[in-house]
Amino acid sequence: MSGRPRLRRWVCLDVGEVLVDETRLWSTWAATLDVPRLTFLALLGGAIERWGDHTRAFDLLGVPGWRDTEPEVKRAFGALRADDLYVDARSALVGLREAGMGVAVVANQPADRHAELLALGIQPDVMAMSGALGVAKPDPGFFARILSLLGNPPPGEVAYVGDRIDNDVVPSRAAGMRAVWLRRGPWSLLAEDTGGAAHLVVTSLAELAADPDAAWR
Ligand SMILES: [Mg+2]
Repeated sequence: MSGRPRLRRWVCLDVGEVLVDETRLWSTWAATLDVPRLTFLALLGGAIERWGDHTRAFDLLGVPGWRDTEPEVKRAFGALRADDLYVDARSALVGLREAGMGVAVVANQPADRHAELLALGIQPDVMAMSGALGVAKPDPGFFARILSLLGNPPPGEVAYVGDRIDNDVVPSRAAGMRAVWLRRGPWSLLAEDTGGAAHLVVTSLAELAADPDAAWR
């Protein structure tokens, strides 16, 4: 026999604050709204802490019609760049595949991110964005679509890796998957896993790639 060994388990990765450091995205919002970057980023943190909903930062700023600004932010941000990736993103994909894992990238993102990530060398076995799927986290239908995209493996053979307790950890566990909580970025560092929903907690993708089977222990 030659080629890759039979896929036994899947590791499914989120994008925001997992593969991609969103600093430039949120800084683009601050610049477009003409708000000092520190003020905007601090209000994001305050909104996450106070309400668990970062979009309330726009209420604090007095910009209730912020969604009208989205096209302008999208133009100013452009496509993802190599320096938007966390430094361990590409190497972790390689490491996970070398460990025999099937690797997927399925996340709440605009459809354009798919091609942008491929162009940056993020080339998993399966990739899909919510903007193309028409369903987003934390809807249970999103996790059902993941299983279907992976060829319907037993859910317990799929680990979902995300930074958010509410959008990633709790719903992936509810879908029968192994829930891996990546603690980086403001959503994770301001949260607590009060319900003990995560099967595994890591602080980098490199840590997970070094021992992905830890998600099943
Ligand atoms: Mg995320």
